[in-house]
Amino acid sequence: MSIERVVVLGAGTMGHGIAQIAAQAGCRTVLFDVDAAVVAGGLAKIAADLEKGVARGKVEAADRDAILSRLEAADGDLAAAVSGADLVVEAVPERLDLKCSIFESLGRSAPETAILATNTSSLPITRIASASGCAERVVGMHFFNPVPRSALLELVHTDATSAETIETLRTFGERMGKTVIVVKDSPGFATTRLGVVLALEAMRMVEEGVGSAEDVDKAMELGYRHPMGPLKVTDLVGLDVRLGIAEHLAEALPGGRFEVPDILRRLVREGKLGKKSGQGFYDWSES
Ligand code: NAD
Repeated sequence: MSIERVVVLGAGTMGHGIAQIAAQAGCRTVLFDVDAAVVAGGLAKIAADLEKGVARGKVEAADRDAILSRLEAADGDLAAAVSGADLVVEAVPERLDLKCSIFESLGRSAPETAILATNTSSLPITRIASASGCAERVVGMHFFNPVPRSALLELVHTDATSAETIETLRTFGERMGKTVIVVKDSPGFATTRLGVVLALEAMRMVEEGVGSAEDVDKAMELGYRHPMGPLKVTDLVGLDVRLGIAEHLAEALPGGRFEVPDILRRLVREGKLGKKSGQGFYDWSES
């Protein structure tokens, strides 16, 4: 099966980026949100990003026009929006109840051949899939921010996902210019689980006085060629967001690996949430 018509649910940070790369890959793409203003804003951001590409000589003006002509806005009626979809990608806020209720309605209203994907970064896909009533067509499609410039697509299958669903999305992911990895549904998948365990250990090292945040980060950046150290990444993601994920992983994967260091709880309590608040493991007030 070839993916030609894509519907993206949720036009926020991730949704509009996913819609952009689907349209760039040649698909007719519908961008849907409960808030019409967010859809308009998402389409404007896509147009601005393509415009930058034209200015830098990376995108032909004719290609920009063709990509924009493949994009369509939708709000209000979910069933109508998904009626012609080969692939629906859900990118609504990270709440299990919300995602389950959307997949329940997709199970009823999306075409029987459509693949239904969620962009969740931490929720159990098996639970979301079982709400749909068609778990063989449900899969995790974990994109990264900013979507058009991130190389990775992490596909997450459950025990019920069909091999055809995975192969169709592997091909489609590559068509969108991504390197695709396939992992089984488990807490934190591959990316979040590894990224968070490294960051928590780095925090413990700062807490124990092993080294400063700068030096612990440089150990990974220069010693192991990580593009960015784990504490700087934490500052960009948000300490509150990382705390929530660490607590979830500590419960789902017991044994102490994800035990939350006191320093993380203390910084969050003090409102030091990273770049967005001006202070985290680093001082961002000047940037
Ligand atoms: P966001 O808050 O920027 O956007 C979510 C959008 O969903 C909002 O515009 C909201 O109006 C819309 N929405 C809410 N209820 C809806 C509904 N019932 N139907 C349609 N639209 C609805 O969120 P985001 O950062 O884009 O995150 C979306 C998903 O992607 C989450 O599951 C998140 O965990 C995941 N994710 C986020 C990132 C990131 O860096 N932001 C990275 C990877 C994965």
